[in-house]
Amino acid sequence: MTPPAFEYHAPATAEDAVALLADLGDAAKLIGGGQSLVPMLALRLAVFDHLIDLRHVSELRGITASTDSVRIGALTTHPEVGASEEVRRAIPLLAQATPLIGDLQIRTLGTIGGAIAHADGAAEYPAVALTLDAQIETLSPRGRRTIPASEFFTGMWATDLDIDEIVTAITFPVWHGHCGFAIEEFSRRSGDFAMAGATVALRLDENSRIDHCAVGLFGLTPQPMRAQVLQAAPTGRPIHAVAAEAVGAAATAGLHSLPSDVNGSAAYRRRMGAEMVERAWRRAVQEASID
Ligand SMILES: Cc1cc2nc3c(=O)[nH]c(=O)nc-3n(C[C@H](O)[C@H](O)[C@H](O)COP(=O)(O)OP(=O)(O)OC[C@H]3O[C@@H](n4cnc5c(N)ncnc54)[C@H](O)[C@@H]3O)c2cc1C
Repeated sequence: MTPPAFEYHAPATAEDAVALLADLGDAAKLIGGGQSLVPMLALRLAVFDHLIDLRHVSELRGITASTDSVRIGALTTHPEVGASEEVRRAIPLLAQATPLIGDLQIRTLGTIGGAIAHADGAAEYPAVALTLDAQIETLSPRGRRTIPASEFFTGMWATDLDIDEIVTAITFPVWHGHCGFAIEEFSRRSGDFAMAGATVALRLDENSRIDHCAVGLFGLTPQPMRAQVLQAAPTGRPIHAVAAEAVGAAATAGLHSLPSDVNGSAAYRRRMGAEMVERAWRRAVQEASID
């Protein structure tokens, strides 16, 4: 299907991009790597008069690491994230998530800012951002904001971004100490969006007790979410006294209105979600365990 005509803009700075957005309002759409927008455009699910291409805004690219955080520019592509030594060392959950995104072509062009702004409930990066308490940095004509991931994702393909606001970077805190991280997902074919997926981040104290843990879910609900697992895995409990099955059940207990369709019933999806949490939990525990 031929997409409707639109005017193309290629700003050189983030300030120019947000000025254009402010000027053109909802007649304009941003494009990063185009791996979600172009298919929607081709199907006429996205219709706009102006396309603002961010690819010339070099200030939105790159990865900067410090002892306590790793900041990733919005235009940084999935392979750049996955290949980064800083990301592999300091944010291993993000590195593990990257090869699970779509197929090679999608990963080659897709950007982390696009994936976060698109806020797909089945996408890996938003779930990782929620699990690790990432901060989303933005710019609008009113200035810069930093939005915690927990407040950024507001619904299906919906975020806290204003109409004239762009994502400029995502900052992930570095977890120090005895930590384990794992992501697991189930999809019918390699490269498909996950039908059920889970992320686990876990830190133990010197006595092998839970110091901090977080579980994310994706593919199950319209928006990515952080699961409630405190009852099954409270802070201070010895890690070997926590059953992975209990964590999986707790993480999925509060899920409402799971879809039922040709791919699976709601009950099947809940079971798959719990299974993904259990698998990720076991791997994270193994990695964090003190020998
Ligand atoms: C067949 C197929 C399979 C896929 N499988 C997966 C998968 O398994 N996992 C997964 O996570 N994704 C998957 N995707 C989606 C895709 O990989 C990501 O959504 C994509 O990488 C998003 O990044 P992008 O730069 O391409 O975004 P774009 O398509 O350019 O933009 C997506 C949306 O974000 C907005 N946007 C882009 N950049 C910014 C910014 N800096 N600030 C504000 N708004 C912005 C755009 O206006 C648009 O609304 C799949 C896509 C296809 C077509």
